[in-house]
Amino acid sequence: MAATAIIELSRVTKTYGRASRPALADVSLRINRGEFALLMGPSGAGKSSLLKLILAMEQPERGTIRVAGRDVHRLTRGSIPYLRRNLGAVFQDFKLLPEATPLENVRLTLQVLGLRRRDVVSRAREALLRVGIDPDARNPVRCMSGGEQQRVALARALAGRPPILLADEPTGNLDPALTRDILRQLELIRAAGTTILLATHDPLVYRHAAASRVLHLESGRLIEDRTLDRAPSFVAELDEHGEPVDVLGEIDDDEFSDEPLVRPTDQPHALRRPESDLAFAF
Ligand code: ADP
Repeated sequence: MAATAIIELSRVTKTYGRASRPALADVSLRINRGEFALLMGPSGAGKSSLLKLILAMEQPERGTIRVAGRDVHRLTRGSIPYLRRNLGAVFQDFKLLPEATPLENVRLTLQVLGLRRRDVVSRAREALLRVGIDPDARNPVRCMSGGEQQRVALARALAGRPPILLADEPTGNLDPALTRDILRQLELIRAAGTTILLATHDPLVYRHAAASRVLHLESGRLIEDRTLDRAPSFVAELDEHGEPVDVLGEIDDDEFSDEPLVRPTDQPHALRRPESDLAFAF
């Protein structure tokens, strides 16, 4: 059975303002459901731009970007929050609240996503436990190590149970032991059925990640797209179609429709906010 592309870029070009060269030039790629793809390349190669285009934070100049078959740049404004609910994101720009505890950090994100109040605490606790952080920790995150803070950031991205995780240098500034620790967490997350796209320039990540693909950008061009023959240490459970069983969350097609699944009466927080804030009010 042909693998299902969950993220698909087709001839995407992006030029910022009056820049003399595009940040991304004619990039085409497909990431299949359940993959763990590394997006490699030196600083300035276009990695963050590519992730931001997938999140519809930036518009392409040319080309199309599809997530679960939907052209993300043709979604109405009202549908973008539903797209972003399917995309957990770990970005350097999305800082943790330094004075808040890990649990408060994750809870706030879930509240902003508009989860029902009774689900917020249980989901936040579950997400922290999954990445090995004590949900009852009372210290603010600024007192935690860099590795622990990255785990909290991962928990925050995963707490909404997105089927796709986009991570931009999630091991940036971590020492080799902590880098490997985060990579192991990602492997577990993938084993639970989440598709991962991880941008990094770190060769250590390339060496140790149990990734299935490597995509290599240089000066905005995709110069390499290679399958990696690395056996993961955890084998994802497969369903009758040979797809990884998604214990975190399924992309629900309806969530991309213009009609919110959740009625205003159910979720006043989510619907009162401007949609552009929804996934990013960290
Ligand atoms: P990477 O993530 O690989 O470091 P980026 O996607 O951040 O690469 O940057 C690719 C190119 O686009 C760089 O030349 C960078 O200076 C430029 N760029 C990125 N973001 C912006 C922006 N908001 N405005 C103008 N230029 C940008």
